[in-house]
Amino acid sequence: PMIAEPSEEQPPERAIWLRAELERLNHAYYVRDDPAVPDAEYDRLFDALRRLEDAHPDLVTPDSPTQRVGGMAIAEFASVAHSVPMLSLNNGFLEEDVIAFDRRVSDALEKLRERRDASQPDARAESAETSETSEPAGDVRPPVDYACELKFDGLAMSLRYERGELVRGATRGDGATGEDVTDNIRTVRAIPLRLKGKNPPAVLEVRGEVLMFKRDFEKLNARQRDAGEREFANPRNAAAGSLRQLDSKITARRPLSFFAYGIGALEGAAMPATHAALLEWYETLGIPVCRERQVVQGAPGMLTFFHDVGARRAALPYDIDGVVYKVNRVAEQVALGFVSRAPRFALAHKFPAQEALTVLLGIDVQV
Ligand code: NAD
Repeated sequence: PMIAEPSEEQPPERAIWLRAELERLNHAYYVRDDPAVPDAEYDRLFDALRRLEDAHPDLVTPDSPTQRVGGMAIAEFASVAHSVPMLSLNNGFLEEDVIAFDRRVSDALEKLRERRDASQPDARAESAETSETSEPAGDVRPPVDYACELKFDGLAMSLRYERGELVRGATRGDGATGEDVTDNIRTVRAIPLRLKGKNPPAVLEVRGEVLMFKRDFEKLNARQRDAGEREFANPRNAAAGSLRQLDSKITARRPLSFFAYGIGALEGAAMPATHAALLEWYETLGIPVCRERQVVQGAPGMLTFFHDVGARRAALPYDIDGVVYKVNRVAEQVALGFVSRAPRFALAHKFPAQEALTVLLGIDVQV
């Protein structure tokens, strides 16, 4: 940045400065695939802007990075309008963030139940009857079920299948409009060109992450080195750079992988009732889904998953920067809905930054 970071005593100046700085970093990260600062520094600035806007709602602008999905589509590729937006995720770093997320979800679902009961007195009478016999009195709510999965450090992709045939691959872009990278996606061996099974849905948009396994990344960088070409900073940049090649012959030589974690459009098939069932359905269709996943109850279940995965992070064959929790029941996801840039039914729980840990301990820790 040209000028120094304004202090907390100058909220309007600080908001303008933070926005400009985040825009600059977004451009380096999403358009050039060449981050200007470590993720932890980006996250710090983003969090500072969010806290500032929370304290001064009049300073929020519709185009603020806190209100939008970070990426943008570059003109070299044809653009694709996403029929269902591709959103970001809300982030948490602390156990308290997970507990607060669970409370928000549980409170919102409880309110929806109360509203439904009020508009359907019969339903209330019924639920009152059953609760008298089966539930103790007082504020005893059922714990919420969450589908836990890994937060892959790659790049988001929407794969559109029509009658079982892969017809398009698109990047997230700004969430509303992405880049058409179909030719490149067709070269990724992990992605089926045709879905398994006799009755494929008329339309299925699989959402997931394109990533590069650590070993493949090492090999690719060794090859780049031998050829006297630029090495990639990390597997994420290698994956993003490989996928956004204008010559798909280059992409074909890059060892890319894919894991599905969500859904966009669906026509001609029933939506599974839970997120876990969606992923199981994907497996039957031949779509790769990561096996590191689990359905748990409430905040204690999510935190156990987080610590278990954290302890095994270094041994995983791919980079992750945290875990993701999603309300498992799809009807509840729909009821909870979205804020501007992220669903209310999901939370990304990020690991502490590697760089920050190194500084803290004064040694080069492998996390
Ligand atoms: P995000 O990466 O924090 O989360 C949303 C993305 O997570 C999705 O789009 C998807 O691609 C991915 N994802 C991985 N596993 C998933 C799963 N199981 N379920 C759902 N989604 C999953 O959000 P973002 O808005 O793309 O980017 C913000 C992050 O990117 C920042 O926190 C920062 O770490 C990094 N960033 C860094 C810089 C920099 O300068 N270093 C700049 C911009 C962004």
